[in-house]
Amino acid sequence: MFKQVELSYSFDSLEPHIDTLTMETHYGKHHAAYTTNFNKALEKAGITEDDAVKVLASLSDIADEADRNAVRNNGGGYYNHNLYFSTLSPTPKKAPEGKLAAKIDATFGSLEALIEKLSSLAATQFGSGWAWLSVTPEGDLVTSQSSNQDNPISQGTGNIPILALDVWEHAYYLKYKNLRPDYIKAFFEVLDWGKVEELYNAVIS
Ligand code: MN
Repeated sequence: MFKQVELSYSFDSLEPHIDTLTMETHYGKHHAAYTTNFNKALEKAGITEDDAVKVLASLSDIADEADRNAVRNNGGGYYNHNLYFSTLSPTPKKAPEGKLAAKIDATFGSLEALIEKLSSLAATQFGSGWAWLSVTPEGDLVTSQSSNQDNPISQGTGNIPILALDVWEHAYYLKYKNLRPDYIKAFFEVLDWGKVEELYNAVIS
């Protein structure tokens, strides 16, 4: 049985960057529904695997198309939001240190350049979707975007995401309306690079 990641912060604590009503709706309704529906879809498809990464990496094993799409969409929604919410903080570390900091500089030139690249991917994702920072099987960093609740795992890249930027309208429309770029700036105000660094170190270890 998959469960939503527990938040280490309150719904109102990311104000003014992410507003309370968006947090209540996004975590309390949208993410809750993805989680419930992921569990239901797995039961219907007869899948007992308890590692969401393994489930999303082997979607092609699900023969029935409706079952496969239900697991892909709801499993993606479950996994993506767990990552998204667990990397936000009211007291974020504003820059990574150690191996991740060095890898970002070597790959993108600077943290600012990486943030600019991710912001551009997030802003240009047509319709609902995500922007990603992931680690390849060789330990390299790559950025990407995806539609709907797809992610680098369900896309079959073999890469593991360590940063997820949600650009579905439900992530920002209550406060930012059509101004997605303003929300993207706000996201980076509450993104905890300490969490991203922890995830990177776990993937490469
Ligand atoms: Mn969302």
